[in-house]
Formats: sequence, C-alpha cells, structure tokens
Amino acid sequence: MMREPILLTPGPLTTSLTTKTAMLHDWGSWDTSFNQLTASVCHDLLAIVHGEASHVCVPLQGSGTFAVEAAIGNLVPRTGKLLVLVNGAYGKRMAQAAEVIGRQVCVLETADDTPPSPADVAGRLAADPAITHVGLIHCETSTGLLNPLTEIAEVVAQAGRQLIVDAMSSFGALPIDLRSLSIQAIIASSNKCLEGVPGMGFVIANRAALLASKGQSHSLAMDLCDQYEYMQRTGQWRYTPPTHVVAALRAALDQYLQAGGQAARLARYQHNADCLRNGLRKLGLRPFLPEAAQAPIILTFHAPAHPGYQFRPFYEAVRAQGFILYPGKLTQIETFRVGCIGAIDQAEIEQAVAAIGRILQQLGWINQETTA
Ligand SMILES: *Cc1c(COP(=O)(O)O)cnc(C)c1O
Repeated sequence: MMREPILLTPGPLTTSLTTKTAMLHDWGSWDTSFNQLTASVCHDLLAIVHGEASHVCVPLQGSGTFAVEAAIGNLVPRTGKLLVLVNGAYGKRMAQAAEVIGRQVCVLETADDTPPSPADVAGRLAADPAITHVGLIHCETSTGLLNPLTEIAEVVAQAGRQLIVDAMSSFGALPIDLRSLSIQAIIASSNKCLEGVPGMGFVIANRAALLASKGQSHSLAMDLCDQYEYMQRTGQWRYTPPTHVVAALRAALDQYLQAGGQAARLARYQHNADCLRNGLRKLGLRPFLPEAAQAPIILTFHAPAHPGYQFRPFYEAVRAQGFILYPGKLTQIETFRVGCIGAIDQAEIEQAVAAIGRILQQLGWINQETTA
C-alpha cells in the first residue's frame, strides 16, 4: 500500500496534508511574524474553552506530560496538597509528577471503568482540610473513559478548593466552558483533538492564580509564570520555541475553525466512534466500557477470546494493511485500543474495521460466521 499508515492512536495521530505542509518553512524565533503566530494560536486556544475573561494560555515546549508537571509545579503551592482522582494510567502519572517534584499528594482511586463519585470526592475534601487542589483527567485515555467534569468541578468549588484538569485527549472535541465551570487550569497539547503535530503543550490558567504563583515553580524551564510574563513583555518564548509545531498548530486551528469548531469536531469523532464500535462488534469483539462511560476519542476492546491471541502479530498484520492500532493499557485484562481522532472519518474507520476483520480471520482468532 502506497499510502502512509493511518494512526488509530491517541496521538501523535494522522494529520492533514495542509497541516504537514505548513511546516515547510524556517522561522526565526525573534521574528515578528513568528511572534504573531504564537499570539494568535494562544488566542484561539483560550477561545475554545471561553476563557478570555478569566484565564490566559501559556504554551510550553515538550509533550503533554511536561505541561502537566509544569501546571502542578506552578499552581500547587509548595505547602499545598493535591488529591488526584485516579482511574487509569494518566491519573497515576499526574500523581507521580506531583510526588517527584515534592508536592504532597493523595489519590482517590476507582476501577478502570468507573468514574469517581462526586459525593466521594466531597467526602474526601471534607475529611482532609490540607488538600488545596484536585486533579482530574477529563478523558482517561488509557481506556477512553469520560470522567464527570461538571459534577466534580461543582463539588470542588463548593469545598473551596481548586481544580486542575488534564484535558489532553478531550480539549477541542468535548465542550469545556470556563464561563460556567470553576477550573483553575486546563492542560492539553498540540497533537490530540486539535490535530496538530507533537511538541507543544499548553496550560490555560486562571490569570490571577498564575500571577500569584510567581516563584513557586520547582523548575526553571517549566516556570509557567515566567514564560507568561516574558511572552507578555517580548512576544517571544523563553528558550527555543518549537517553531514548526506552532506553525502546524496554526494551520490545524484554521482548519478546525473553518470546519465548525468544537461542535463539528465532536460530531465527526462521535460518528467515527459509532462506526468503529458497531463495526468491531459485528466481528464479535466486545467493547470494554459501557457506551455511556465512553468518550468518542479512543475505544478499548477485549482481545479476541482465542487462546493464541497476542497483540504484536495482530498489530504487525494490521499495520501491513495500513492501520496502526494501540496496545491496551490495563494490567488485569487483555485488551487493545483503537483511536477515532485525527484527520480521519468514516471511510478510514470502515477500511480499518475491514482490515481488522480480515486479519483476525486469517489468524484464526475469530470464526467466519460472526463476520457474515
Ligand atoms: C496524551 C496524554 C497525556 C500526555 O502524554 P504525552 O505523551 O506526554 O504527550 C497526558 N494525559 C492524557 C489524558 C493524555 O491522553
């Protein structure tokens, strides 16, 4: 097959040709045209979550995890305490980041398929007055589970604490409205639902909280307050910016807005997810999550029940057909994941389902009748 493989992953993912070609230039980091590019990208990112009145967008070089670590290091005071609501690998990672940089941290853990109950969170906050911040993963990408952002934001605000949201795999596709939700910071990156290329994270932070955090960062390179103030003053990034990544994100945002913004992106992903779920079900594969708990970002399926099943040969064979799958991230059960985000739609999903069906039959892991 001549076409590059389609990435059915949670990012980096398949980007459009327009986004890729936007990188065919060299920009000087000092140049006004590049500084305008940065400013316009930050402006649009802030607008996606309606944060113009209360928040600012601070971009940061690196992958999404860098931005998560930076947000915690800046916004959770050195004497603060973070409660992380964990139901998968990214929740665990947020807690680990806090621990590594020496913030006090505790977790409220639920099963991989179970969102935290707002009442339990309220109870935990009432019982531990030392907790200053709550960390929530909006879409837990390790399964695709959607966590109840609105309800959690309400109990955290009622308890007078601050909420930090890792919206890495939901930002731009699932609605988030800072005018009605009390959220201190939202963290995301260039290479997920915005369909840019990897290399830049960003934190949409409450402006007053960010400015009040001056001097709190555990790290020079990850000091968001300093990055923000420097950018306000000079228009430039502190330290070498990922120029091509910013240019690609500008192009990706232009396409995003042109196609109808968040609502349109969600509709396309929801349709992708529905096609994928129905298609793989017809092959006899079982989704891990109930439909109501599933975000239309990445779907987890139980591995075929056949005793010979192994992910690696399955992956390789499907890759040879032009599609890149993702391994499962659950420790207890054998699963695999298929992403429905990126510059793809129904056609690619249908081709992927057909390829998966062909391969599973060839490997003898599903029987002919289920696919008829
Ligand atoms: C992708 C992702 C991250 C960041 O991962 P990186 O590999 O550092 O980009 C963090 N949280 C969630 C929920 C994610 O999906």
